[in-house]
Amino acid sequence: PVRALILEQETGESGVRASVQEVSEKALPEGDVLVAVHYSDLNYKDGLVLGGLGRLVRTYPHVPGIDFAGVVEASASPLYKPGDSVILTGWRVGEVRWGGYASKARVKAEWLVPLPEGMTLHQAMAIGTAGFTAMLALMALEEHGLQPENKGEVLVTGAAGGVGSIAVALLANLGYRVAAVTGRPDTHDYLRALGATTIVDRSELETPPKGPLAAERWSGAIDNVGGASLGTLLAGLCYWASCASVGNASGIAFNATVIPFLLRGVNLLGIDSATCPRERRLVAWPRLARELPMDKLAAITHTVPLGEAPAMGRHILKGIVRGRTVIDVNS
Ligand code: NAP
Repeated sequence: PVRALILEQETGESGVRASVQEVSEKALPEGDVLVAVHYSDLNYKDGLVLGGLGRLVRTYPHVPGIDFAGVVEASASPLYKPGDSVILTGWRVGEVRWGGYASKARVKAEWLVPLPEGMTLHQAMAIGTAGFTAMLALMALEEHGLQPENKGEVLVTGAAGGVGSIAVALLANLGYRVAAVTGRPDTHDYLRALGATTIVDRSELETPPKGPLAAERWSGAIDNVGGASLGTLLAGLCYWASCASVGNASGIAFNATVIPFLLRGVNLLGIDSATCPRERRLVAWPRLARELPMDKLAAITHTVPLGEAPAMGRHILKGIVRGRTVIDVNS
């Protein structure tokens, strides 16, 4: 049997109820690869799914978990054979299909990537969609000219969250000067330990600039929060710098003018990790294995048993989770 966290609909406040249950392997969705899952993780989107929010799940009962890492048990695809270690992130697994909060998962082979050399399954889920997205954001910024020697610091918003923490550690390790935006004063030491050179209070960035342009300050930005601060940071980007738009932890609307685009040639780059093509995934994951310092990854990661996922989901929606949470689906 498969041990899984099952979400069922109920007529209550959140509309869903979660419990760990055993289900038959036959109940798993169709796919050509069966994976024995070792670990899953917790992303903001998992918080939404666990809370019955965002209209992400259409049919119940449902197994959440947008990411998993494990070992192939059976494969009808030439891409993988039993015993291969694999990672899955995104592709709407854990949203419209059953996901990784289970001891087994069945998916399409082309959605998986091989575990890169030098990375463990636990590290893969400490990274998860959050860290993969931080790498996609960095790759997009580099493709638009970001280099450590450019003028200014790289700004990371929502810095103490999952994407933010990994982005700070990754950028600092590659020699960038990093300004970390946080609304939590108790995370300043944590962010400095990850390599942030400057801490910016969230309220400073939520204050709109006096005009359409502010002093040139940021060589690039990874924005995890959207909302008011996005307009402010665009006005402070240096000439030809870019901002990768990753998240909406503070809101989906933002207030800005076109002036930074017209007078400074800046770019706003969209990142969608869920549908990222396989070829790009095969570049991003080995880069994470080489360029993310694994001691810092360990320091930001907290591991919990499957049954604690619903409580952690409530915490991430409140914005009080620091760093990354790995879910041990077998404990
Ligand atoms: P997370 O761990 O909860 O991090 C979000 C961080 O945003 C929080 O730690 C907090 O940082 C800050 N924050 C929370 N509420 C806020 C508010 N009301 N105003 C301003 N800042 C606020 O979540 P995550 O998994 O890292 O994801 C971050 C965001 O990226 C989410 O919106 C998520 O949906 C999105 N995302 C998008 C993709 C993609 O493919 N585009 C992939 C992954 C995640 P501080 O406490 O440091 O201020």
